[in-house]
Amino acid sequence: MQEISVTRNPSPKQKPKDESALGFGRLFTDHMFLMNFEEGKGWINPRIVPYGPFDMDPASMVLHYGQAIFEGMKCYRREDGGLQLFRPTDNLARMTRSAQRMGMPALDEETALEGLKQLIRLDADWVPHRDGTSLYIRPTMISTDVGLGVHASKTYLFYIILSPVGAYYKEGLKPVSIYVEDEYVRAVRGGVGFTKCAGNYAASILAGSIAEEKGFSQVLWLDGVEQKYVEEVGSMNMMFAYGNKIVTPKLNGSILPGITRDSVLKLAASLGYETEEGRLDVEQIFADTKSGKLTEAFGTGTAAVISPVGTLALRGEKTTVGDGSIGKISQKLYDTLTGIQYGRLPDEFGWIVKL
Ligand SMILES: *Cc1c(COP(=O)(O)O)cnc(C)c1O
Repeated sequence: MQEISVTRNPSPKQKPKDESALGFGRLFTDHMFLMNFEEGKGWINPRIVPYGPFDMDPASMVLHYGQAIFEGMKCYRREDGGLQLFRPTDNLARMTRSAQRMGMPALDEETALEGLKQLIRLDADWVPHRDGTSLYIRPTMISTDVGLGVHASKTYLFYIILSPVGAYYKEGLKPVSIYVEDEYVRAVRGGVGFTKCAGNYAASILAGSIAEEKGFSQVLWLDGVEQKYVEEVGSMNMMFAYGNKIVTPKLNGSILPGITRDSVLKLAASLGYETEEGRLDVEQIFADTKSGKLTEAFGTGTAAVISPVGTLALRGEKTTVGDGSIGKISQKLYDTLTGIQYGRLPDEFGWIVKL
């Protein structure tokens, strides 16, 4: 672990007064963590500095060839006022896996975690108190070589910014409607689908806008080869319940290996549900939803934790999942997982890192 230098912000901002109006990712705290990578030297100069803009050359590689990866995790305030992180080492390990696929250097995970902890301690007053709120953490890595030749950059910047975010659900879990995308694809076999790279999002924005125009809140992506098997939704993994059995697409290289997905699978098993990872044919899922054999559908991800699906649309046809309201399993998993994250329930899995 390297020594982290700290430059305090001489003019801290006013903290938001109304925690019910935080929204998502609009406000940022007073400080950020940075470290640089130079070929031959590794990760150097870890530092906490006042939050602010970067001075970047217009020919910086990331702006042209898109070597950019990120992570998303949260810091939660317990009822006793203390702060805790949820599986942060898993996020940093995933960032290294994303980096390797993108031809970027493995992260110095130990220094990054220490930098994150020090950064949050410094900006601790920014972690909101209101029920369901949290501090969203966005680690990012970008290539910084200047020049237009296409090759792996020799220099990189890693940084962490923090954003106080509001409760995702203000009036209980609200089921969403999703649109099965059968024209565009998000990821292909051998590609970068399993990485949290900026480009995956760039590739998904058009389909998202079209679905929104049609009145849906999310796109459900199918596999990029046959457009037949369920992959995931925008920024969430998908799960379906048949009675007490939960099924989810197996990790095949084109799906993002969600930490919420992994947590839900482990938690569900410990709660006595049967779980299965496999290949899920979208036609079958749709038919089973119509017949009522499939009883619940939900997305899993850091932002919403569990996002129940009320309506599914496939090639112009719509069907309602269950009775269109939140299912028992979805609610149970949401309550248990958020209970662990906010310290209301004991953590039997070793997921919590107290600050
Ligand atoms: C981040 C992300 C998820 C969810 O991952 P979590 O670790 O559970 O937050 C799912 N799909 C995509 C494409 C993502 O980028």
